[in-house]
Formats: sequence, structure tokens, C-alpha cells
Amino acid sequence: MEKTRKVYLDHNATTPLHPEVIKAMMLYYGEEYGNPSSVHRYGQLANNAMEEAREKVAGLIGASPKEIIFTGSGTEADNLAIKGIALANKTRGKHIITSSVEHHAVLNTCKYMKKEGFRVTYLPVDKYGLVNPDDVKGAITKDTVLISIMTANNETGTIQPVREIGKIAKKKDVIFHTDAVQAVGKVPVDVDKMNVDALSLSGHKFYGPKGIGVLYLRKGTRIKSLILGGHHEKNRRAGTENVPSIVGLSMALEIALQKMEKESVRLTGLRDLLSKGISDRIEKTHLMGHPEKRVPNTLNICFEWVEGESIILNLDLKGIAVSSGSACTSGTLSASHVLKAMGVDPALAQGSIRFSLGMSNTKEDINYVLDVLPEIISRIRAMSPLSK
Ligand SMILES: *Cc1c(COP(=O)(O)O)cnc(C)c1O
Repeated sequence: MEKTRKVYLDHNATTPLHPEVIKAMMLYYGEEYGNPSSVHRYGQLANNAMEEAREKVAGLIGASPKEIIFTGSGTEADNLAIKGIALANKTRGKHIITSSVEHHAVLNTCKYMKKEGFRVTYLPVDKYGLVNPDDVKGAITKDTVLISIMTANNETGTIQPVREIGKIAKKKDVIFHTDAVQAVGKVPVDVDKMNVDALSLSGHKFYGPKGIGVLYLRKGTRIKSLILGGHHEKNRRAGTENVPSIVGLSMALEIALQKMEKESVRLTGLRDLLSKGISDRIEKTHLMGHPEKRVPNTLNICFEWVEGESIILNLDLKGIAVSSGSACTSGTLSASHVLKAMGVDPALAQGSIRFSLGMSNTKEDINYVLDVLPEIISRIRAMSPLSK
């Protein structure tokens, strides 16, 4: 057996910065440190860099620059979309539709909106984690002001029928937001083709910096700023803009999209090699999420009779980084809300492992995982009273 190597398979939690991105950002941490709101030359240089980044991001998702709002994270973009749109449009109605498999940035914001007097409908999903567009149609009432359904799920990679949902929303004149954080850089994202009015993305999920996000907001959509202060971001998000990170995000997005087609084929190949290798070598495993309607890098497998946490710890000792479902829920022993909504037996859901591949991964990485994983699983199973 090969000796320990370092294999990072948790790209849905975060990705390393692309070296060119680091280089581009350094200029704005160093020499060109101006405040983009300043009138003088220092300010102009920073502002130019920021507006160039805004144009680039807009162009890459089919938007116009005025529709791009830079935020402090993907989470903030989700908060701004849901709170900001619902509050600014509450005279139109106080009903929000979302799904039961959203990221906590959306779920907990919707929970908060309930306290603010909004009614929230959580749509069910099928066993693959898919929302049925007919359910969306059926849930819309005269009071519905906002629909928020994610593009791709962070735990399973399942891709929602966003375009069809958007068509329904448009026809019924309801504002439609999508959390596309796990889709951007992995599958094509175009705000017009997807029929969305608002879309969230996050830099650190596609080899850009952490602590920077974007909310795309369609022209004419009313929004209330959550952070009050100066006139930054056209009064939609106050606070001096994070110029280095904005530049970094735009460059990371450009690189990710340039590589997307090739990388998508490569990662699908590696992922399927891993998937087949696991089911060939290990008994009683189950693929979670949709077999085809899935982002190329994500593989979620449930291992019967084992706890995900013990697999993670054992793999970590071998230099392999994976996670159980979402990074935000690991550390707690409660089963994933996503798998629960898909109707997965809670005992089985405990044994869920998410492998999320990325740019640095090679065939050697996958073979190494396939070398060490069977032994780990059988060792844990041997200790489990359930497997007897
Ligand atoms: C990571 C993630 C977020 C949060 O983005 P941050 O920039 O980490 O706050 C939101 N939604 C989904 C689907 C994610 O995967």
C-alpha cells in the first residue's frame, strides 16, 4: 500500500486560492490601497479596478454591471436577497416559497422572516433531492412575494430545474432568487437563461478568496439594504468595498469559467472512478443525490452501519480530507436535513460521506482513497454491533 499522501476532497466546503488570483490581489493590498470612494488618484485607481471586476463578473453571468452587488460572503448575499427583497416588496404580499434542502444561509433567513410576520412554504423534494416545478406552481398564492430555490445542492450536488421554476415565477410575477454558490464554475450560469431575478455566489467556492460574495439583482427589482452607512454599491450595501477580494473574485471566476468545460469532463471521470471503485470494493453503499442531474465534482455516499464522523477521522489520519454532508452541520450528530428531506433512513444518513473533487485532484489521489477506504470501513463495521 502507498504511504500517506495529502488528498483534499472537500472543495464544496472551500477551495484553495488560484496562484494567479493571489498575485492579482497583492497589488491592491500593497501599492494600490486607495478607497474607491475617494476623489483623488488613489481612489480612482481602486475604483477602476473594482468597476472592471464588476463588469467582468456581470459579463460572465449574463448580467449588466449595475446589477452586481458585492457582499461580504455567499451567506450575506442570501440574507440580502431574502430579507432585502421580502421587506422592500412586502406591500405586494408576505409569503415566501423555498425548499427543504436549502443551505442554512437560506433556511435560517427564512426562519427569521417568519418571526417578521412572513409565511414560509418549504417545498418537499423527491428521493434524488429534486423540487418538482408543479409544486412551486401549486404553492404560489396572491400573497407570494419571493421564491428562493438553490441551483445546486452543497451536500449531494443535485441540480434543480431552476429554468422551469423561473419560468413559472415570471408568469406569476413573483420574484425568483437562486443560491448558485455551488453551481458557479461547475455548470453554466446565465441569469437570463435561468429566468432568475436574483442570484448568489461566493468567491471561495471557485478558487477565489473567502469573505466575498455577489448578489446579482435584476434591474428594477426593489431591495432594502441590510447594512446602513454610505452610498456604496448604489445604496444597496454600505461599507468600503473589499477591493483586493473583489479583484480576486472576478479573476477566479474568469479562470474557473475558462477551464469549466474541460475540467467538468475530467472531474466527472475521476468522480465516477471513485464511485465505481467504492461500490466494487465495499458492500452496502448507496449513492445520494441524482445520478445525472448533479454537478461534476460531487459524490455523496452512504455507508451502512457506520458513522460518517468515524470515517472522516480515519481518512484524516491517512491524509484524506472529506466531510459528512455540510461543513456547517458536522460536529453535530444530527442527520443532514437534506438527506432527511430526501426520505433517507436517519440511521443510513449517519453514514453519509461527501467527496467533493477539484482542480488539484488526480487519478493517483482517487486510487489512494480506494486503497485505504475499504480497510477503514471494514474495521469500523467490525466494531459496530449493528453489522453483526
Ligand atoms: C458555501 C455556501 C454558502 C455560503 O457561502 P459563504 O461565502 O461561505 O458564506 C451558501 N450556499 C451554499 C449552497 C454554499 O455551498
